[in-house]
Amino acid sequence: MTTTRKQTDLMMVVTSDIAGQLRGKAIPLKNRQARERIGVGWTPTNTFITSFGPIADSPWGALGDLMLRPDMSTLVDLELPDYGVDECFALGNVFTLGGERWECCLRGQLMSAIERLRERHGLVLTVAFEHEFHFSGCEEQPGFGYALRAMRRLGNFPDRLMDVLDRAGLALDTFMPEFGPGQCEVTIGPQSALRAADEAIMLRELTRSVARGLDATASFAPILDPSGVGNGVHVHFSLQDVDGGQVNFDGGRTDGVSESAGSFVAGILKYMPALIALTASSVSSYMRLTPHRWSAAFNNFGRQDREAAVRICPVFRESADEDVSDKFHFEYRAADAAVSPYLLLAALINAGLSGLDEKLSTPQTTHGDLTTWDDAALAARNIARLPTNLPSALDFLQESAWARVAFGETLVDAFVRHKRCEVEIMDGLTDEEICRKYAQAY
Ligand code: GLU
Ligand code: MG
Repeated sequence: MTTTRKQTDLMMVVTSDIAGQLRGKAIPLKNRQARERIGVGWTPTNTFITSFGPIADSPWGALGDLMLRPDMSTLVDLELPDYGVDECFALGNVFTLGGERWECCLRGQLMSAIERLRERHGLVLTVAFEHEFHFSGCEEQPGFGYALRAMRRLGNFPDRLMDVLDRAGLALDTFMPEFGPGQCEVTIGPQSALRAADEAIMLRELTRSVARGLDATASFAPILDPSGVGNGVHVHFSLQDVDGGQVNFDGGRTDGVSESAGSFVAGILKYMPALIALTASSVSSYMRLTPHRWSAAFNNFGRQDREAAVRICPVFRESADEDVSDKFHFEYRAADAAVSPYLLLAALINAGLSGLDEKLSTPQTTHGDLTTWDDAALAARNIARLPTNLPSALDFLQESAWARVAFGETLVDAFVRHKRCEVEIMDGLTDEEICRKYAQAY
């Protein structure tokens, strides 16, 4: 990245927090090296700043100090006056003054989960994200899902966005004029879990920045209209051994799911009632997680099923005799962009890790519409309707011994307190009003 910045120009050092926002402090570029070592001062209660103004009830009040240190490998430095884009920020980690990872640092939580998966099972997770969002700068037209005419109406936006993402070092994959009016989707190539989460943040911020350069906005809110389509964050994932060898696929087993991949997926599904608050963490998320919206409403495993919580994705062969085991992977569909991608991936890894520790057996895939199954049929397969609102998802999380061990008491309590305040803020509003508030916040 080359820019013509002055040494007094500012770089934001930011942390991705419980609200799913990026917050931090700016430093002049000339102080960059020193700040890389000492960071900038940070305050525990900042993690209670909601996306809507009020600060949730913080156990720390005005007390305490932390250090927010930039990881300069995440620097985004782009000055593109023709596009109205001027971004200079680096993602960081929050440490205690004693130099320990702070429990509420979500990037640190993901790093710890990645380390545990490697240490305990010799495995690493590779991830690719699909991002859906609504772009305000085009004339909306129902019925133009995937249409060339929708693409034309988006004007300069898609090409500018691809240019900016490419300059930021992201591996371009596809852009889609998605089904909803004004809805778009961008997919980015696979990366290690940490880098994929860093890039998910970069992608959202750069999309907002490019939209702003066109006097428009981009909203990644989970759903903009209670009767419309949702904006999902679909997480494609596969497991490798530490040398990069695939361990996902086993042609001798049902659906080709290897024993370890089966345990990992089983862990995600088992702990989904508790982890769903961490992957779908807004009040409006639960308007999206309803049946027949191509999101997910049950903790089921499906093959090429776009309403399964975790689905086995198709593999595209280049030739009939190609070994496709490297391409074989899964997709988690019950996530949205109201949550930090670090917390989202930490939740999936921690749950998958428990599945491996407990040696859970591979779940059977379901076929067809689960809303037509009765309770006994669902229970026989350990399938449950996911919590249908944020308060009930928070109850599951609060009571979960698994979550308290995986993330620590401090984070679980902070998360639940923060999100209960958000629930109170939305109390008494209509679904339409709630969607509007989230559309502005995300
Ligand atoms: N928009 C849907 C969602 O909320 C997903 C549609 C698709 O399969 O891409 O997740
Ligand atoms: Mg899509």
